[in-house]
Amino acid sequence: MIQKPKGTRDILPDESYKWQYIEAKVQELFKNYGYKEIRVPVFENTELFQRGVGDTTDVVQKEMYTFDDKGGRSITLRPEGTAGVVRAYIENGMASLPSPIKVWYNMAMYRYENVQKGRLREFHQIGAEVFGTSSYMADVESITMANEIFKILNIPNIQLTINSIGCPTCRAEYQKALKKFLEKNIDQYCYTCQTRFEKNPMRILDCKEEKCKSLNQGAPIILDYLCDECKTHFENVKKLLTEIGISYEVDPGIVRGLDYYTKTVFEFISKEEGYTVLAGGRYDGLVKELGGADTPALGFALGMERIVEIYEKYNKENMVEPEIPKLYIAQIGEKANSLATILVKELREKGINVQKDITEKSIKAQFKYADKINSKYVLTIGEDEINNNRAKLKNMKTGEEKEIELNVEDILKNID
Ligand code: ATP
Ligand code: MG
Repeated sequence: MIQKPKGTRDILPDESYKWQYIEAKVQELFKNYGYKEIRVPVFENTELFQRGVGDTTDVVQKEMYTFDDKGGRSITLRPEGTAGVVRAYIENGMASLPSPIKVWYNMAMYRYENVQKGRLREFHQIGAEVFGTSSYMADVESITMANEIFKILNIPNIQLTINSIGCPTCRAEYQKALKKFLEKNIDQYCYTCQTRFEKNPMRILDCKEEKCKSLNQGAPIILDYLCDECKTHFENVKKLLTEIGISYEVDPGIVRGLDYYTKTVFEFISKEEGYTVLAGGRYDGLVKELGGADTPALGFALGMERIVEIYEKYNKENMVEPEIPKLYIAQIGEKANSLATILVKELREKGINVQKDITEKSIKAQFKYADKINSKYVLTIGEDEINNNRAKLKNMKTGEEKEIELNVEDILKNID
């Protein structure tokens, strides 16, 4: 038997309804915040991610699914959503839309990761991006919307942590100090960190190797090096968050795994699972870096696999029910089949979940099946019923039986 590739998952019917529920809730929330959906290609030119995500990041150096297509172009399956969305924003002239421009997406992502709990090679992210505002108010609105996701899904024990990683101006000073700190022990760091020392020393702070993590203890923190503008921006973000009652912790250790971030970065961490469910931040330099006009922007992405897992954990009692059929029309004989076929068609057109046999089962097997799929009602049609234009409708929960007329109106009246 051919098995699925390592790091991929099937989302089966007994799980997909939970995904749909979460997606619908989140999309409704995004709509109220003024976001509209954007869909971009699964694959892009590799250069987009090298430039966008940054060629010293783990994502670009180790995790991309990159291949040459038959025309000899280097193609990469998207490892994240922002770079593609920014490309689409620039390429389609979206800058001319009324600002700020708010878009959301729900897409599969591909990363060649070490597969473990909560870490897959194909996974799904819902993300939200805002273009055209450098104001701290946008940071707070984005964080508020992210925070709201956990509330509407009834997920507790989520910790919001924020940080500011400054802008190129303050980073220059900081990197000098950081390099001075790292230099002393650089030969003890892992090979990847050593290669990043010159080009992108801040990346070293995000290394997942235990050895490097302990060497990083006591490193200078960027918060101490913020320029006046970045400092004020961060103070304003914190002040407004406090004013509107959103609690947060400042974690000077957050640097994020993608190079494009500037100023505010944030993560929502599940305290029990110990992993980040949602992460994002400001990326004021990215639109320009990818060839657009200088445009401030920010956004976040949440991991669907992780949020579904936590959602299930906390909502055992009041879990959304999968859709069950309202009515099953059982039939005996060819004439009954014709009538049942017409009735289900018309009822379905009216938006009712109604089922009938399409496997040529015996009547007994049909009743058994109706019971197994939890149909609320069963209507039984045979030759006599057709002649009298009346049939028995059984309420499967109470066992109560009732004779009704064999037409759509009477059926609708009697199934609630
Ligand atoms: P980490 O440092 O944990 O690797 P990251 O910086 O790569 O994180 P992002 O790219 O910001 O993470 O992804 C945002 C969210 O998407 C994560 O918080 C997580 O919920 C989810 N996510 C990221 N990578 C994976 C994966 N391989 N499998 C499942 N979910 C993922
Ligand atoms: Mg990662």
